[in-house]
Amino acid sequence: MSKQVNGRVYLVGAGPGDPGLLTIRAAWLLGRADAVVYDRLVHPEVLKHARPRARLLFVGKEGGGESVRQEEINALIVSQARLGRTVVRLKGGDPFVFGRGGEEALALEEAGISYEVVPGVSSGVAAPAVAGIPVTHRGVSGSVTFATGHRAGKAPDWAHLAGAETLVLFMAGGRLEEATLALIAAGRSPSTPTAIVEAGTWEHQRVIEAPLAGIAQRAREAAVGSPALLVVGEVVSLRSQLRSLVQSEPVVSESARFLKAEAGHE
Ligand code: SAH
Repeated sequence: MSKQVNGRVYLVGAGPGDPGLLTIRAAWLLGRADAVVYDRLVHPEVLKHARPRARLLFVGKEGGGESVRQEEINALIVSQARLGRTVVRLKGGDPFVFGRGGEEALALEEAGISYEVVPGVSSGVAAPAVAGIPVTHRGVSGSVTFATGHRAGKAPDWAHLAGAETLVLFMAGGRLEEATLALIAAGRSPSTPTAIVEAGTWEHQRVIEAPLAGIAQRAREAAVGSPALLVVGEVVSLRSQLRSLVQSEPVVSESARFLKAEAGHE
């Protein structure tokens, strides 16, 4: 029996949603993969870059149900590569920004499988941008802190986060009330301009703006769902001047049409 040569794994960022924000390298690799292991946060149009015969393996949460455990995802990627397949592990945003891509890279290291990371456009920058919020702005904010509102077994360091110039909080959804109260208790002014960007760059993108003390209630009233980011800081008030951004329609459909035309040429 001939020895099977391991395939290579690509840990690929799919961008924040809009398929037009996929990188060219990501699209190119998708067109060559034997197996694509993807998450819930990947836009369906992005998957159209995959070869018709590629195996598409979904490992995300369906309708709030249980997601596939991380160890199982690691094992799946390793086993696909051991079958000699070229594997694209496609993740929302950037694979190493709260995407557990680092853990998958460690598992591949341990299994002795060759891999590469293909950075993606993180929602942490992109979702505020399309909502009219530059995460840094000369004279307004000279730094930005990306944090998660949800840490396994450990509360976020609210005192540290309250001191951030611009704070972008990932996975804040279910604990918005707790997050805003904690930031205020740790010294952030209740009147700090704050926004929630839900499904930034997707067709159904929504933005809600309120002072820090009122944003949780506004989000409840609007039934904000997932994915959503909380943006806290003076940069949020730039929205009132960046009217063209705030009023523009998401460009998703335009990008998607372009993608379909491209696919048609293959
Ligand atoms: N690796 C991803 C983040 C994965 S964690 C990235 O770089 O973007 C998942 C969290 O990301 C969600 O709970 C939400 O807080 C945020 N998120 C992902 N896509 C988003 C989008 N299009 N709009 C707003 N928030 C988003």
